[in-house]
Amino acid sequence: MVLAELGGSISRALQQMSNATIIDEKVLAECLNEITRALLQADVQFKLVRDMTNNIKKIVNLDDLAAGHNKRRIIQQAIFNELCKMLDPGKPSFTPKKGKTSVVMFVGLQGSGKTTTCTKYAFYHQKKGWKPALVCADTFRAGAFDQLKQNATKAKIPFYGSYMESDPVKIAVEGVERFKKENCDLIIVDTSGRHKQEAALFEEMRQVSEATKPDLVIFVMDSSIGQAAFDQAQAFKQSVAVGAVIVTKMDGHAKGGGALSAVAATKSPVIFIGTGEHMDEFEVFDVKPFVSRLLGMGDWSGFMDKIHEVVPMDQQPELLQKLSEGSFTLRIMYEQFQNILKMGPIGQVFSMLPGFSAELMPKGREKESQAKIKRYMTMMDSMTDKELDSPTPKIMNDSRIMRIARGSGRQLREVMEMLEEYKRLAKIWSKMKGLKIPKKGEMSALSRNMNA
Ligand code: GDP
Repeated sequence: MVLAELGGSISRALQQMSNATIIDEKVLAECLNEITRALLQADVQFKLVRDMTNNIKKIVNLDDLAAGHNKRRIIQQAIFNELCKMLDPGKPSFTPKKGKTSVVMFVGLQGSGKTTTCTKYAFYHQKKGWKPALVCADTFRAGAFDQLKQNATKAKIPFYGSYMESDPVKIAVEGVERFKKENCDLIIVDTSGRHKQEAALFEEMRQVSEATKPDLVIFVMDSSIGQAAFDQAQAFKQSVAVGAVIVTKMDGHAKGGGALSAVAATKSPVIFIGTGEHMDEFEVFDVKPFVSRLLGMGDWSGFMDKIHEVVPMDQQPELLQKLSEGSFTLRIMYEQFQNILKMGPIGQVFSMLPGFSAELMPKGREKESQAKIKRYMTMMDSMTDKELDSPTPKIMNDSRIMRIARGSGRQLREVMEMLEEYKRLAKIWSKMKGLKIPKKGEMSALSRNMNA
């Protein structure tokens, strides 16, 4: 999961506070110290962290809180709010509209992940029904066009570029014109990067921008630079009208928190984060669900969005209905495993469930996890309809467990492990009981409910 270490440290600090019998100044101070340490380790700027803890202390004035107030809840809410404030630039980004042509220009330093991110951005929108196209106006780096071409071909996205032409402005204009004629509604222009911020890079960016008149300029930045992101984002903003930022490589760097807060401090909205090298390791960045996930509270809005994405349309109403009734049977688990295996990166879906990803889906061990899920499914293949459809795991007595192990050729302990996993999942999903089922795009209400 993204920023697993930072999230783990913060939720541990909150947990320790919850374990205390009485919440007094000392317990609160210990909790805030732990959180401060975790944020500084993630390279969040000292001043931001100090302001945050001061604000929390002010809000949570323990002397003023009359008995009966739920102090834990108030402290947790204050921490949640302050982390959101730290990551919120207070400014929304321009969002392209489907069916209406938008030109989006990507800028950034070489190696930041710009070319990879262009394709991820195109692929993301293509999955949602857009008609994207890619233009390679990076004539500086040898191999840039080949890379874009390869990625675009894999994702079946039309592309434009040239091995001969060395003028990036000419290529950008030709590419944009061609795709406008072809009625593409999202024309993505990849521009050159350099090793460092320098005049030639900024001049080229300005020229491409003037010639193509982009609706949105996206600055791509590598998260490993941590709080230095502030200076880099400012420098790009001053040279070209940056409307949004994408922070890449959030999977591999402990400094991701620092990078995100530093970008927010420049008042630029982060719209996506890159979480791996693959095309679909790319996530919408939304402050509240992100912080919620960081604190181990899950990201229900993201989860529901994923359900809409991975579960076939005709199965969605039934599944959501069952979830809202709080019934999570082994058959539902089986069907969801089937969907998830079909769509590929199962980690993304599970990482949105509180407490789930770490055990079943550790990052970097997707193959093993996939094998485990297939093993679980083989065992479930040896179950009767009654077992699969029972709303409670209680019917799983010793003789049934032995029969399933024999039938699937697996060990008893493996069947027990699978049932434990099921129980854990059922407990998490039972939280959905009684919820109004939102339609696509109406996820925030659900998220608020789940996190309350
Ligand atoms: P560019 O020079 O800015 O166009 O960078 P590239 O798109 O060529 O990416 C540089 C390297 O970073 C490549 O090896 C990419 O696979 C890798 N990369 C890009 N985004 C991510 C990400 O989100 N996570 C990880 N782990 N690697 C990434």
